[in-house]
Amino acid sequence: MRFANISDRLKFVAASDAVIDIEQVSGGVFSTRIQDAYGRWDELLRFCDDLETADGPRLADIAPTEFRNPAPQPRQVFAIGLNYADHAAESNFNVPEEPPVFTKFATSLAGPYGTVTLPPGKVDWEVELVVVVGRPGYRIAAAEAWSHIAGISVGQDLSERVRQTVGPAAQFSMGKSFPGFGPIGPLLVTPDEFENPDDLELGCLINGEQMQKGKTSDMVFPVPELIARLSAITPLLPGDVLFTGTPAGVGIGRTPQRFLAPGDELVSYVRGVGEMRHVMVSDN
Ligand code: ZN
Repeated sequence: MRFANISDRLKFVAASDAVIDIEQVSGGVFSTRIQDAYGRWDELLRFCDDLETADGPRLADIAPTEFRNPAPQPRQVFAIGLNYADHAAESNFNVPEEPPVFTKFATSLAGPYGTVTLPPGKVDWEVELVVVVGRPGYRIAAAEAWSHIAGISVGQDLSERVRQTVGPAAQFSMGKSFPGFGPIGPLLVTPDEFENPDDLELGCLINGEQMQKGKTSDMVFPVPELIARLSAITPLLPGDVLFTGTPAGVGIGRTPQRFLAPGDELVSYVRGVGEMRHVMVSDN
């Protein structure tokens, strides 16, 4: 099943691409807020079983400006560094034995289309698979992990590299949390839509030029392993967001290095989930 947050209203997207307003069609049983739905995810999926043949406006007719982040108010945001061997190598790190974890503060989250204001420094791209937690859990076994995931989306872990590495200890969370640095969307797709949710293609392009292209099956710590390791320490709550790391091809790993400039259009995709489009704009 597919869901979207359109004009701040929870929508179900049927197989026909018809877009259905959940609050209206449920007579108010479910609220307009997608974030509330994660706490009742199994109930929502059961309700939507009957909606696959319902009619509504077509997805392609919805203006991009109406699409919002499908996980807009998570209580916890986790992000993973160096989770693809080829990206660890281009970053001059060994493949980690423990996944490095940081956060993107909630004010950095944004929708799937629009502009990103470039702060001073060196702003880099990192396309990532994002998963959103449905069923909560503590000490979740890897074998059970996908059953705790409400859905999959596309994310960008935009990163200002000067701030990220300044000072005596790395500042990943700060360098990656400027406003607009955590776009997610446009759709949230349930894991059962995929033959193998652990093998999805993802990538990004700048002005039409492919910068990153990878497969989630190349993750050092696949999604179930990340869920097991994170929940071993921190209970996972409905609506929590996990950025799962980026494959090779970021700007800092290139020769010569390249960073985002005003006017650049960044397109980020996960095959079978969708694509986001953002245009970079100057800070002044
Ligand atoms: Zn990242």
